[in-house]
Amino acid sequence: MAPDRPPSVDRLARSLADTGLPHPLLVDAARQAVADGDPASVEERARDLAESMGRHLLTGVVNATGVLLHTNLGRAPWGAAIDDTRYSTLEFDLSTGDRGSRQDRAPALLARACGAEAAIVVNNCASAVLLVLAALAEGRGVVVSRGELVEIGGGFRIPDVMAQSGARLIEVGTTNRTRLGDFASAVAGDDAALILNVHRSNYRIEGFTESVGVSELADLGLPVVADIGSGLLDVACPWLADGPPPWLADEPAARQTLEAGADLVTFSGDKLLGGPQAGVIAGRADLVAACAAHPLARALRPGSLILHALQDLALAYLRRDGDAIPFWRMATLTVDDLRYRAAAIAPDLVADTMAVPGGGTLPGVEIPSVGLRLPGNHAAALRAGTPPVIARVADQTTLLDLRTVHPNDDAVLGAALDRLGVR
Ligand SMILES: *Cc1c(COP(=O)(O)O)cnc(C)c1O
Repeated sequence: MAPDRPPSVDRLARSLADTGLPHPLLVDAARQAVADGDPASVEERARDLAESMGRHLLTGVVNATGVLLHTNLGRAPWGAAIDDTRYSTLEFDLSTGDRGSRQDRAPALLARACGAEAAIVVNNCASAVLLVLAALAEGRGVVVSRGELVEIGGGFRIPDVMAQSGARLIEVGTTNRTRLGDFASAVAGDDAALILNVHRSNYRIEGFTESVGVSELADLGLPVVADIGSGLLDVACPWLADGPPPWLADEPAARQTLEAGADLVTFSGDKLLGGPQAGVIAGRADLVAACAAHPLARALRPGSLILHALQDLALAYLRRDGDAIPFWRMATLTVDDLRYRAAAIAPDLVADTMAVPGGGTLPGVEIPSVGLRLPGNHAAALRAGTPPVIARVADQTTLLDLRTVHPNDDAVLGAALDRLGVR
């Protein structure tokens, strides 16, 4: 009698074709299953492996956490409407037929939207800061308050970025108090090239504190660079019909920081700007040009997908159409609207919740919201659905916050609740 042999890897892989994965990945799954499975369970193991491979791929999820800018879920949702049957005018000037610059559409529109003379776009705000320091202060000093030598998260530490740029850090003041005089003596006594002001995006210093604002720093005779981080374009939020929401409070904005005297501002594309991952350097045209001319600019430049997405976003801001920007649309939904939707999904489960901006912005800020509350921890079961639903769990209670869920996905939540047997 023939021994009980495992099926051939190739046959096993072909039997998994209905998972939709390409053959080489199915071969990997089949091989792994054969290597560590007992022959009887090998088909089942191969199917499980193939399925987990499929779930490992990047995919869209329903964010029901109430965290508007969820760092693990790609921060802001924003995509480019691109026709990939055509080419792009990325570096092409349609009027002359000559070579153009990739930096003269989205960056120029963003500059227009925040009142800057000029702007360029790089990969993220960390690269923006790196490029500014390398282009404007390599081999020279940059004056920073000790209260702003921050770690933003993901290993972005101002002293480390400074070292990478080739600029020399000149620390002034103390952790809790820095005065104008501290800056003035550093500016007078050293080969300082720049003053760097860093927004404390993700923490607060309270109590016996003192710090120096951009407008005072601007009088010291050196260029002032303000890393505002979040990408709020204008404190007046002209793209919102009802003006700025109260929770924005003291968040610095690009326009007002430049008006206060900053020569450059740097900010992220995917925090309060609500766009794709990108970093923007905006301000004085000569300084922006110096950044663009530095060799690092070539290494840090974004591609056409990002620039196209940012162009659409900048146009939405210039049209003052906050509803077209998912981050702002979700952030400003009324609690009544959310309660109405929650009641339509599952009236018995409606609960008041608190959403948060997230993404390392606005620490401590909560935005009143409404969701569905279910006893028990259902996070894994909800993640296993198609599309996956990402919930918030605390104290053996599962919360689905509707503020971060697109209304089109309310039906997805309803179906998920049915599967859990709680509706
Ligand atoms: C978030 C942040 C950064 C880093 O931005 P990324 O776009 O994530 O690289 C830099 N500086 C400040 C002040 C920030 O808040």
